[in-house]
Amino acid sequence: WSKDTIVLVTGANKGIGLQLVRELARRGLTTILTSRDESSGRKAIESLLEEGIDRERLVYHQLDITSPDSVDALADWVSRSYGSIEILINNAGVNSIGVPDLEQAKYVVETNYYGTKRVIEAMVPLLKPGARIVNVSSKAGDLAYLKNEWNAKLEDIATLTPSKIDEMIQEFFRAVEAKEIKARGWPCMGEELPLAPPEMLAGYSLSKIALNAYARIIAEKLAREKEIFLNSMCPGSTSTAMSGFRGHSVEIGADTAVWIALLPPGTPEEPLPHGRFFMDRKDVGF
Ligand code: NDP
Repeated sequence: WSKDTIVLVTGANKGIGLQLVRELARRGLTTILTSRDESSGRKAIESLLEEGIDRERLVYHQLDITSPDSVDALADWVSRSYGSIEILINNAGVNSIGVPDLEQAKYVVETNYYGTKRVIEAMVPLLKPGARIVNVSSKAGDLAYLKNEWNAKLEDIATLTPSKIDEMIQEFFRAVEAKEIKARGWPCMGEELPLAPPEMLAGYSLSKIALNAYARIIAEKLAREKEIFLNSMCPGSTSTAMSGFRGHSVEIGADTAVWIALLPPGTPEEPLPHGRFFMDRKDVGF
């Protein structure tokens, strides 16, 4: 890895994304910090410069992952500025606390699933052989939370397609509208939390389940056809705005993503992992 290694991190003006940029730029990689709000992204760059990170290693570009125009503009700029990149870290995400209504459910799924998918589709043509994609996902996306027929459909990677994932999402939205999230077997992480309604975090969980399923579908093909290695990870409960600043430090939260992104190149006998899900640097397999 060197200054010629170009890394792009989404949602990097704060939290785990900002820590990822800090870690990668400190290691001497040229790191593109992106944010949906330009002024907070530029402030984040200033804060990293004040910490002493080399100005040459930090680059800024705007990116709202829910906006096709913004994603296209970024891809076009990357293509003109660098030609290609080596590492893409899909970190941007939102949460919705409480029992989601339809609007909240759509917002969280549109950002965490469709937004991330849009960035992957736009950036894949710009990724070099040997490149890595890391999805900052969540254990909230564990398939075990899905207690209806979609669990088996998502498990069966051989027959799963992105349009089936779309179908699942539409069915989830219908359950949200009908206020039947739990009755129809959609994720109910609230059952694990004291005093929370069962449907708590249902939209967030479903968005990450969809993202993990999509990652498993495309990882095999990307590795085989393009030598691009896509893996997912969970940072664990990390002290950021999203968690109400509860949990471990962003240094710990970002560690596994940095580790997978920078794994040494594989060999024919021991190829790089792809389509895996890591926590605390361990493959936890969901
Ligand atoms: P933060 O809320 O601190 O950061 C989220 C980042 O995503 C912000 O920079 C935010 O920008 C950005 N973002 C949101 N929507 C968009 C969008 N449409 N386009 C571009 N950027 C966007 O949370 P974390 O750092 O904790 O979250 C990072 C990732 O880690 C998320 O994917 C989250 O799901 C995951 N995660 C976090 C956990 C935790 O305990 N913190 C646990 C498990 C997973 P803005 O400032 O403009 O809102």
